[in-house]
Amino acid sequence: MQTFNDSLKEAEQKFNMSSGGGYAQIQNGDNLFRILTPAYLLGKHFNEMGYKGVCVGKDNGCPGCLEADKALQDAEEKAKGEKDKEKAKKFYEFYNKIKSKPKYLCYAIDHRTDEVKLLEISHGVLQALAMLQNDKEWGFSTFPMIYSVNIKKDENAPSPRDYYKVVGSPKGWGEVSDEKKAELAKLTPPEEIIQRQKDKKIKELTHKELAPGEVDRGIEYPKDEISPDDIPFN
Ligand SMILES: [Zn+2]
Repeated sequence: MQTFNDSLKEAEQKFNMSSGGGYAQIQNGDNLFRILTPAYLLGKHFNEMGYKGVCVGKDNGCPGCLEADKALQDAEEKAKGEKDKEKAKKFYEFYNKIKSKPKYLCYAIDHRTDEVKLLEISHGVLQALAMLQNDKEWGFSTFPMIYSVNIKKDENAPSPRDYYKVVGSPKGWGEVSDEKKAELAKLTPPEEIIQRQKDKKIKELTHKELAPGEVDRGIEYPKDEISPDDIPFN
């Protein structure tokens, strides 16, 4: 019997909508994931009063980059002649907040639901993963990762630098099943999803109509585009 899930999968494949179970949410406390793929870089802007979303690059007329450029000019203007370095730094706060921030996209099994999801991680989390990858005891060289990780989030940490800690979680999760591997193989690779997000945004910016027969692939965006680690601390 064809299940509803089969029908959904069929539609996803036919219309090229496959991004698995959407985006995993990193909640306060423990977040257990098995990371299945390398993580790919994308830039994002988080201007609460302006552009929020993927950075498409200055050359493509990224509104976020234009806003950031303007903020930088303003900051430089204000900081001119300010001898107190600490005071001068303050003028750059808004610019630092809205400039393009590195984010990384990968697939992971969310152990909460045992589903394969897209996982967007911050630079700090990626650094912690890189440390594990290079560690004598915890090192790994293939994907899926051979153990799960716990991304511990502490919203009440005194500094945004301490919002996330990543520890290995070797016990209890076993190997990634063939079923999950097969599921992953059908999904659109993260780097392609990033490219589509950019293409879609560029299209919106240039108000270009879709060509006849062209399918709007409708890549979804994470629900919480603003995360606490985007609060500037430099
Ligand atoms: Zn940009």
